[in-house]
Amino acid sequence: MSAPCQVCFKPSTSQCSTCKFARYCSREHSVSDWKRHKRECPTLAAGLDSQIGYPLTVKAAVFPVEGGEPRIIDLPYKLLEDGHYPAHQLDLTPVLGGATPDRTRIEIAGFDVGPPLGHRLILIHNDNFLAEKRAVNMGIQAIHKGRGYKWCDNLLVVRNVNKRERAWQYQDITPADVEAVLKRYFEQGSDGHAALEYADAVEESNWLRDMGSQTMQV
Ligand SMILES: [Zn+2]
Ligand SMILES: [Zn+2]
Repeated sequence: MSAPCQVCFKPSTSQCSTCKFARYCSREHSVSDWKRHKRECPTLAAGLDSQIGYPLTVKAAVFPVEGGEPRIIDLPYKLLEDGHYPAHQLDLTPVLGGATPDRTRIEIAGFDVGPPLGHRLILIHNDNFLAEKRAVNMGIQAIHKGRGYKWCDNLLVVRNVNKRERAWQYQDITPADVEAVLKRYFEQGSDGHAALEYADAVEESNWLRDMGSQTMQV
C-alpha cells in the first residue's frame, strides 16, 4: 500500500518532486497543500539530520502575562522523524522560559464561541504558584474551572492540524482563533467562574507589577 496523501489520507499516487517525501492522491491536493508544505520541503529534501536548531516557524498566539493584547508570533520548530508525517517539535523557550510546561489540550468548539472552529487549539502554559491575580492567570483558572493550576507566565496557544494521523503537527493560528480564546476564557460570562475581562484586568496586573510582587518571566 502506498503512503497516504498528506491532505486526505487516501492512498497516494504521486509525490513532491523536490523532497520525494510528501505524497498526494491528486494534483488538487498537492496544490492545496503547497502553502504549508513549501516551508518544510527544503528541510525534508536535505534530510532531517541537516537541521540546525529550530529552522522552521509556525504562527502561534501569546497572551502575555503582563496583560495587553494577545500577539501572534513566529514560533520556531523542527521536524522529528515520525513516519509519513514528521512531528513538529516546538521551541517553547522564547515564550515559556526553560521550565517544562504543562500542556492543556482544549478543543474550542463550544456553542458559546459561535460556530465550532473545526480544529483543535492547544493551550500551553507553565504551572506554578506565583502571580495568581494576573489577568492571564485568572483566565487559566477559568479554563481549569478554578481547580488548582495556579499559574504564571505567558499563555501560548497553537493550532493543531487536528487529524489523528498528524497529531503532532501544527499550522498557522489565525485572528479568529485568538478571538475564540478571548471570548471563551477571558470575557465576562465565559466558561468557568473566575474569568475576567482580559483588557480590564491589565490595570490590576500593572498595579501588581508596580508593587514589585512579581518577578517577570519572558
Ligand atoms: Zn488527497
Ligand atoms: Zn516537498
